[in-house]
Amino acid sequence: MTPLFDEVVGQEAAIATLTQALVSPVHAYLLVGPSGSGKELAAEAFAAALVCPDRGCGTCRNCQLAAARRHPDIIETSRTGATVSVEDLRSLAALAQRRPLEAARQVLIVDDVHLATKSAPALLKTLEEPPPSTIFILLADDLPPELVTIASRCVEVAFPPLPMRTIASALAGGGCDPETARTIARASGGNLDRARLLAEDSAFSVRLSLWASAPQRIGSGGGEIAILAKDLIEVTEAALAPLKEKHAADLAARIAESEAMGERSLPGRKELTEKQARLERRYRSEELRAGLGALQRTYADLLAEAVSGGPERVAEARHAGASIDAITASIATFRHNPNELLALQSLLVTLAQNRI
Ligand SMILES: [Zn+2]
Repeated sequence: MTPLFDEVVGQEAAIATLTQALVSPVHAYLLVGPSGSGKELAAEAFAAALVCPDRGCGTCRNCQLAAARRHPDIIETSRTGATVSVEDLRSLAALAQRRPLEAARQVLIVDDVHLATKSAPALLKTLEEPPPSTIFILLADDLPPELVTIASRCVEVAFPPLPMRTIASALAGGGCDPETARTIARASGGNLDRARLLAEDSAFSVRLSLWASAPQRIGSGGGEIAILAKDLIEVTEAALAPLKEKHAADLAARIAESEAMGERSLPGRKELTEKQARLERRYRSEELRAGLGALQRTYADLLAEAVSGGPERVAEARHAGASIDAITASIATFRHNPNELLALQSLLVTLAQNRI
């Protein structure tokens, strides 16, 4: 197995498929898995191995260029708007016709293909036309029905969310104490990138306990609920600080690299900052989800306690159960709700009513 895949954690089946594919690659691969499942890292490693005459030796000129993210025949393309548009695919089709400059083939990595539902026919056409020297690696968080035809023209490789124990052991391997590693793994939603950031984030446990202690505060009336909701949204916002710092450092490093190469400006800067903004939005919603999960666990503990307390605590048990259901229902609505504060207030009011 090529050492290029070493950084991908816990996706042995996917890596075995990709390694096997290097022997006789086809024209398109579709890597499907949520954010933080390792599919981006795997795509980069696979692309690097595809441009190396030795399937990823790690030392030749092609491998060195790929490792420095400067290989002219590995091109990552991102959408320009909220979805992958026909216009985006037109640019991709033009790029696909290009002849490789350094290697025997060129590799086009296409982000966010799950957002190409409306432009799927154009994507299909783009996949069918290019010369045999072009290989596509499509990346998708999931596979909407509109993309089934696309998937049938590609080799599909699944990147399931990482199990909690894999994330916990990756964190522990990096020096995190085992108990913290387990707490973080539970709040990571199977996303190793997020888990690694949380492991460096000393404020994470404080945020989690603010969520977990919310049931104690919501009994004291509407005014307190408004303050609590505001506090919770504020800590969710503050949670983004380490990611924003990391993104600023990444951008600065890329600019310094490009200046050292004598370039006047960083190529692809706009796409990079847009991608960072998207990752920040996603991180924020994952943070909110982790908070709601902590809140839900508090009610699960209350429920267990009430159930073990016998018949006189039946009402209490019922309230805790109803609260758990209300939080589950709210998780789905948060995803589409532009006004988080209002949605959270309304959830907390429901939880307060459940207590009465
Ligand atoms: Zn090589």
